[in-house]
Amino acid sequence: MSKKKLDGIGIGNLLDNIPIPAFIINTQHVITHWNVSLEIASGLSSRDVVGTRDQWRPFYKSKRPTMADLIVAGVNIPELDQFYAAKYHPSDVLQGAFMAEDFFPDIGKEGEWLSFTASPIKDENGIIIGAIETLVVITDRKKAEFELTEREQRYRELSQVDDLTQLYNARHFYHELEHELERSCRYKQPLSLCMLDLDFFKGVNDRFGHPFGDQVLRKLGFLIQSHLRCIDSAYRYGGEEFAIIMPQVEIYEAFTAVERLRLELSEVDFRTGSGQVINVSLSAGLVQAQASDSKESLVAKADKALYRAKGGGRNRTCF
Ligand code: GH3
Ligand code: MG
Ligand code: MG
Repeated sequence: MSKKKLDGIGIGNLLDNIPIPAFIINTQHVITHWNVSLEIASGLSSRDVVGTRDQWRPFYKSKRPTMADLIVAGVNIPELDQFYAAKYHPSDVLQGAFMAEDFFPDIGKEGEWLSFTASPIKDENGIIIGAIETLVVITDRKKAEFELTEREQRYRELSQVDDLTQLYNARHFYHELEHELERSCRYKQPLSLCMLDLDFFKGVNDRFGHPFGDQVLRKLGFLIQSHLRCIDSAYRYGGEEFAIIMPQVEIYEAFTAVERLRLELSEVDFRTGSGQVINVSLSAGLVQAQASDSKESLVAKADKALYRAKGGGRNRTCF
């Protein structure tokens, strides 16, 4: 008896009993059903929209096809691409159905993210006689996803940057050097590398204390940063050793830039805790990459040039 009663229940009645906003259109793109959940979500009553082609109205500012419209028109990939760009994909569950996620700026106060699925409705011969589209608000999930991506991005940046000098760290150095070497080879453009090291820095620490040494390192980080061109990148390679990757620059031009940095540092008056004014200097080694260079061989050559600068009396740049 009760089964019989259920058999007689119409689609509209069924749809009204699910908490998911849904509508159905026929092959003329005319709305045949608009459930209670969708009335609440859209603010449009079924009385006003059933019999019209206004299915776009809750979602868009002007008339355009919904996913259900594309389904009843016969799925056409260029059209899906046009209206849903890279945001749609075939449903994993329902054959012939498509789903998409998109942001709708005109829904609610601040817009909403919706996940929607449109599925063909077929008669007993498999002919499409309409389409049903269901919608789920996924704004909270999307917000959580964005926050997570942002946090990951911030974390990645943190783990690439040295706290003291705000320059990139050594791990990031090798990663970028490899990348720049590849690029200079591919485009046959010069690439210069500078390794630099503070002179007698152990003595500076020993005499004036570690916090004073840190202050010198911070200042040098700042000076290096302010000398970079936008395509250069600078790294704290070790304790008081730094590296600068200079793409698209011949060694002579790089030399001029590094010398400017070296002179500027040597002219900075650092005031120690006891009020004494001291100057510090750096030594630098410069190389230009050859086609045969690996990142290791390039660093070894720059180190060798730096070693020569130290051996030659420090406070100088060698290549
Ligand atoms: P050289 O001219 O040959 O480079 O002499 P140096 O004294 O600079 O060389 P050495 O490598 O012997 O000493 C490096 C010093 O750098 C030792 C260490 O105390 C100091 N140092 C390394 N990292 C830091 C840091 O983060 N903060 C401070 N304040 N000092 C550091
Ligand atoms: Mg050193
Ligand atoms: Mg040193």
